Amino acid sequence: MTKSEKNTNTVRPPVVVIVGHIDHGKSTLLDYIRKTNIVDGEAGGITQHLSAYEVVHKDENGDDRAITFIDTPGHEAFSDMRNRGAKVADIAILIVSAEDSVKTQTIEALSSIKASGVPFIVAVNKIDKPGANLEKVKIDLAEAEVYVEGYGGTVPIVPISAKTGDGVPELLDMIVLVADLSELVGDPNINAEGIVIESNRDPKRGITATLLIKNGVLKKGKFIVSGKTIVPTRMIEDFKGKAIEKASYSSPVRVIGFDTMPVAGDFFSLYDSKKEAEEAVRKNIESLDANTSFEIYEEGVAIIPIIVKTDVLGTKDAVIKEIKKLDEDLVKFKIIESGVGMISENDMKMAVSDSNVIVIGFNVKLDTRAEDIKQKNNIKVETFDIIYKISEFLETIKNERRPVNEVEEVIGTLKVIKIFSKTKDKQVLGCKVTLGSIKDGATLKIIRREFEIGKARVVGIEQSKVQAKEVIEGLECGVLVESKLEIAPGDTLSAILIVKK
Ligand code: GDP
Repeated sequence: MTKSEKNTNTVRPPVVVIVGHIDHGKSTLLDYIRKTNIVDGEAGGITQHLSAYEVVHKDENGDDRAITFIDTPGHEAFSDMRNRGAKVADIAILIVSAEDSVKTQTIEALSSIKASGVPFIVAVNKIDKPGANLEKVKIDLAEAEVYVEGYGGTVPIVPISAKTGDGVPELLDMIVLVADLSELVGDPNINAEGIVIESNRDPKRGITATLLIKNGVLKKGKFIVSGKTIVPTRMIEDFKGKAIEKASYSSPVRVIGFDTMPVAGDFFSLYDSKKEAEEAVRKNIESLDANTSFEIYEEGVAIIPIIVKTDVLGTKDAVIKEIKKLDEDLVKFKIIESGVGMISENDMKMAVSDSNVIVIGFNVKLDTRAEDIKQKNNIKVETFDIIYKISEFLETIKNERRPVNEVEEVIGTLKVIKIFSKTKDKQVLGCKVTLGSIKDGATLKIIRREFEIGKARVVGIEQSKVQAKEVIEGLECGVLVESKLEIAPGDTLSAILIVKK
């Protein structure tokens, strides 16, 4: 957290995500904790199922400790979100069935936990079952290079039954303990910042989003910015659907009244005034345009947002499945909306708000208003009646958007011998080419005692008092450079070329 050095910091509750193989009991555990630990006795009355909730657990000292659980959708199409779940979270629970032990998605979940660097706890579930075998789980985990407590390692392991509740209080104790060790802090005096967990279009209330506050305080009467979206904080609800005035770090909230869909997994920040919020949006757009970072949530990975509309549910699932098969390490599709029916005005509006969005229809057409929007805007929308044609089309999109790796190649090196003169931004240096060659216009990295301290650009070269375009290895020359930094004798200047790979 960027502002965590401030001395107004206080301890903040942990945000926990549960990951693991399908059917190992994630939902059952989340339901059990939701039912048994939500205060106010309102748990049974929660009709809206928010994708995050807060519980209170009494720790070993009898103190009430808040814990936030993220309940990410289990559908295959949301595996991106599940991956991100581990980033949103401070602590991950890796749930492993005591009956089935480590499975493919256990390993997948492990790698996303490891990539995110969050501490994790292994919960061995279904210990009530006759076929439960805790020892086998430990052995299989060790094989996957997870060494649990009492088995050669330090990863906490708690046997539980999400069905009977056995071991769940111990699991919550362990969460509190790991949270204490992680020294999670938040600042109650700053504007909220956090992550969009989910967004929905509600027929009555319009666009609503579930936000997880990671630091600061969210209050009414301010403005939330996420990507290109602004929303005034007029209506805030807690995870139970109760209207609230404010909420602080680690709390999930629902905010109502967005003008466009915020994207799950994107950051949000709160601003005091509309002006500041608009300025933030402007900056976001600039940086989005500069590096298309909207698509990127993992470094170097392009995420392609996609909307899928189909004729029936069965084809929707089939299309989504096909799309997910196309994911590669560096390019992935993110289904931001899927549904049955014609491609509508709303679908198109989402695509208008973000030029990266692709709209796919299978056995459906665009309705007239959508068609209208298509005519007026440059939107990537295509309809198909054969599934493999969708794959073919998306393959071409993937090729266009796959990130190129930019690598720096050193093409020449100068040793600075003498400084002849220096004006505002320009310096005339006496140098020797020690490697390769130096050309006029080259970009130089300034290296002092093996560290890069800045950059410079060659704006003129002289060799034996005659202007030159290029000087090669072994020769001395006078070099006119532009740089904000003062170059000194002894510095090395490396001419670099950015090569796309
Ligand atoms: P998920 O896919 O990981 O969310 O798994 P679910 O929570 O849907 O659980 C899959 C199945 O295992 C369901 O039929 C649950 O009732 C059952 N289950 C989950 N936890 C336990 C447990 O601790 N004991 C027993 N006996 N069954 C469980």
